Amino acid sequence: MVDHTAGIESLGDLRGRRVLVRSDLNVPLDGTSITDDGRIRASVPTLRQLSDAGARVIVTAHLGRPDGSPDPRYSLRPVAERLSELLGRPVAFATDTVGASASETVEGLADGDVALLENVRFNAGETSKDDAARGAFADELAALADAFVSDGFGVVHRKQASVYDVAQRLPSAMGGLVAAEVDVLRRLTEHPDRPYVVVLGGSKVSDKLGVIDNLIDKADRLLIGGGMVFTFLKAQGHEVGRSLLEDDQLDTCTRYLTEAADRGVEIVLPTDVVVDTAFPSGDREPRPRVVPASEIPVDALGLDIGPESSAAFATALADARTVFWNGPMGVFEVEAFAEGTRAVAEALTKVDGLSVVGGGDSAAAVRQLGFDEAAFGHISTGGGASLEFLEGKQLPGIAVLEKD
Ligand code: ADP
Ligand code: MG
Repeated sequence: MVDHTAGIESLGDLRGRRVLVRSDLNVPLDGTSITDDGRIRASVPTLRQLSDAGARVIVTAHLGRPDGSPDPRYSLRPVAERLSELLGRPVAFATDTVGASASETVEGLADGDVALLENVRFNAGETSKDDAARGAFADELAALADAFVSDGFGVVHRKQASVYDVAQRLPSAMGGLVAAEVDVLRRLTEHPDRPYVVVLGGSKVSDKLGVIDNLIDKADRLLIGGGMVFTFLKAQGHEVGRSLLEDDQLDTCTRYLTEAADRGVEIVLPTDVVVDTAFPSGDREPRPRVVPASEIPVDALGLDIGPESSAAFATALADARTVFWNGPMGVFEVEAFAEGTRAVAEALTKVDGLSVVGGGDSAAAVRQLGFDEAAFGHISTGGGASLEFLEGKQLPGIAVLEKD
């Protein structure tokens, strides 16, 4: 794919112009306190760039899943405060999305000022499946501004008013965050440096089918762990006890194994597994036990890859020039089952080349296990969007920005 997508420079001189920015500020909240401000931090560079260029910056974003009407639990007000701290300048807050407060707030902006509009999903038009309803809301959003910058990577796979329709109504460009994500994802799908190793884990095979389908003929090596591995092990004829299993995906796993063999793609499955007799809960101490992957007891559940597998996965990553990792190797939330995930993360930090972590839980795991984010080539901010990109799907919020 040729990149016809224009960056912010394509909008010309921004001094005094009202620029609407779609950011992804969907942070986890505990009441009104932000528990992880990663997405706000990631949004700051583009907003600062626009503000420094003298634009009157109007940020629109969502928080959670309100049902199309105002709901104080999902107010962006706490985010405005945090954003202001991170930007080091005041952020005006509009208490509605496109109403009187929004107009007044935008009116009040001087060159370089920044405002945040209330949760865009407080308006039912935002996520409506009806083109006319979405378009009508997009008209109102577009009326607030002279140009649009799309910088919320976490939502570019959504055909929503503030992502898609508004870009059809204003001169539009990609923000730096979206541009960086797209650049990395293209490097994973177009001409990856080899060896190219893909590591997949997480809970379900069925969540990752599209990615496996699309990457199986691009990767040189496919390492599989996490909950999804037991369907592969079962497909190979092994007992998996009470481990996570998707019976309806057994044939698919068999097909992947055959396809990989045909294409000369090396599939690395764990040879040992950490099991317990119950899924971890607060009720009892974990009793982790390492068993061969081919000898999982009938009453046990596999909760992590074992130490021999961790070492083999690290070896399989050592000479990689490109790595994409999605999905934890075990139930990393519990320390007793975090070792496999830690080993893979550690191996990624040593990769001489491009190492990419995708997926919400994988990114959270990296942070929770205390790794320095800078040790990875790229940690994707958008789980769903990056997976859809890697599945080879066209993302509406990107396609709409492409100029010819
Ligand atoms: P991501 O968000 O990075 O795409 P997923 O959502 O697919 O990852 O999977 C993350 C979840 O998978 C984690 O909550 C983790 O506890 C769970 N998981 C990993 N290994 C296992 C396992 N062996 N059994 C059950 N759940 C697992
Ligand atoms: Mg997840």
